[in-house]
Amino acid sequence: MPTETFEFQVEARQLLQLMIHSVYSNKDVFLRELVSNASDALDKLRLEKLRDDTLDVDVSDLHIELEIDKDARTLTVRDNGIGMSYDEVGQLIGTIANSGTATFLQELKEAQDAAGADQLIGQFGVGFYSAFMVADEVTLLTRRAGESQGTRWSSRGEGTYTLETVDDAPQGTAVTLHLKPADPENQLHDYTVTWKIKEIVKRYSDFITWPIRLVPQKAGDGDETPEPETLNSQKALWARSREEVTDDEYHELYKHISHDWRDPLETIRLQAEGTFEYQALLFVPSHAPHDLFTQGYQRGLQLYVKRVFIMDDCEELLPPYLRFVKGVVDAADLSLNVSREILQQDRHIRMMRSRLTKKVLSTVKDMKAKDTDRYATFWREFGAVLKEGLVTDAENRDAILAVASFASTHADDEPTTLKGYVERMKDGQEDIYYLTGDSRQSIENSPHMEAFRAKGIEVLLLTDPVDEVWVDAVGEFEGKRLRSVAKGEIDLGAEGEEKKDGEREKQAEEYGGLLGWMKERLEEDVKEVRLSARLTTSPACLVSDAHDLTPALENMYRAMGQ
Ligand code: ADP
Ligand code: MG
Repeated sequence: MPTETFEFQVEARQLLQLMIHSVYSNKDVFLRELVSNASDALDKLRLEKLRDDTLDVDVSDLHIELEIDKDARTLTVRDNGIGMSYDEVGQLIGTIANSGTATFLQELKEAQDAAGADQLIGQFGVGFYSAFMVADEVTLLTRRAGESQGTRWSSRGEGTYTLETVDDAPQGTAVTLHLKPADPENQLHDYTVTWKIKEIVKRYSDFITWPIRLVPQKAGDGDETPEPETLNSQKALWARSREEVTDDEYHELYKHISHDWRDPLETIRLQAEGTFEYQALLFVPSHAPHDLFTQGYQRGLQLYVKRVFIMDDCEELLPPYLRFVKGVVDAADLSLNVSREILQQDRHIRMMRSRLTKKVLSTVKDMKAKDTDRYATFWREFGAVLKEGLVTDAENRDAILAVASFASTHADDEPTTLKGYVERMKDGQEDIYYLTGDSRQSIENSPHMEAFRAKGIEVLLLTDPVDEVWVDAVGEFEGKRLRSVAKGEIDLGAEGEEKKDGEREKQAEEYGGLLGWMKERLEEDVKEVRLSARLTTSPACLVSDAHDLTPALENMYRAMGQ
């Protein structure tokens, strides 16, 4: 097949432009990205071989190789992992599958200055394309395990790339960077300098479980070529003692497994001893992913057995409402070819899940007690998903309620806990009042709020779709009912000034004719028309029955196609 030229997809082209004119100051991270990809490719190959031992590949020496050619000014990152087929190269490298990228590019366009752009780019992974921060041409030679023909991909990052088939490609992937000219004044960004490469690997990729070797430079005639040097310690972070590992090292592991470029908000370590031994290293990200609430969201932890990677996205280890948590669990006593079916039934896995869940919740509780700002970030990003647990996890409901906070009429920008609400309840107030809606503003403008505002009774302002559901599931807190101010008859009499005896009846009689007429005219739309004490300035409002679906919930079910 001849060499074919293709155009990058629009988003890909935009990203590449950014990389080439790199606004991002820390260029060293390109190597972390390429090594991370190589490591993933080795994991994939090992797993594929485990599942299918007819696969004709040698997995006895899986590794990553770095090779510097000073004269040609190239740096090659090579792995003997899974590799890519011709079609895969086009799909995976020529397009950007991650839909968050569109959001990213939009935000980037809106960032006016270079500093803003720099910050933004640091927040989004650009993976393979980061190679173009340091190279003006990148070549990738790959052959998928089990296939006979290889593929060469090449691009200068300017709109197009070429693809050609190759007959004698080694299995795995080699990415060769043709480095931009070096600044003679400044060795800091010269990636043909050995110590520089060693330093970057040590800094960003030390924990990678596969060996990362530096291919020695060709020795002069007659000299023996020295052995390749392994640059990383390969020690799993969770197997090292707590004191020995720095925050930075934890953060690099987080970035590798989450493909997030930002530091995590929280690192959680757990060590379980006894009959079923395991270690867990969990991370709470600092930002909710944009697709957290979509069907295809990849959730779950990485599962290792005695330091050997077994499975990505292992959903059995945490409940769905903690799907944003990333991390690694390393169990000592599982079989290496454990399957998802087995995991679903395993008693030990269930115990592990229960313990990990409690550990995450107690971490959030500590955060709330000790670091208000961090907790506020946590709740802003993950409150909506955590609240799903109030519906689905009765066992931990109290623990979730204890860390949950809600917007309230009590204060504009300071959410309250249910406990805080109860402490502020007026004498004689028996229930906890809330109203659900799309936004704080739309709720505050609701006529339902008038009487509560007039009487100074606090109302929780709930704006997440899940709020409709958990308030029903939870029902009460410390013996106080949770009541929607938009449902049923609410008698605020005892909580405000007393109505004079019989005044309601007298009014009802007086307006009887009008109410009857209205009910007749509105027969198709409403069940009942009645006088109300809940309004102060609006003439009328719509109220549901205590057990009816509220409008927001109706919308939510409709959106779910039910
Ligand atoms: P990400 O790693 O977040 O998926 P990248 O841009 O780093 O994004 O890589 C895109 C995809 O290209 C990877 O998901 C993988 O499928 C493929 N890929 C990249 N490098 C390699 C490699 N060395 N071996 C096999 N596949 C690779
Ligand atoms: Mg990657």
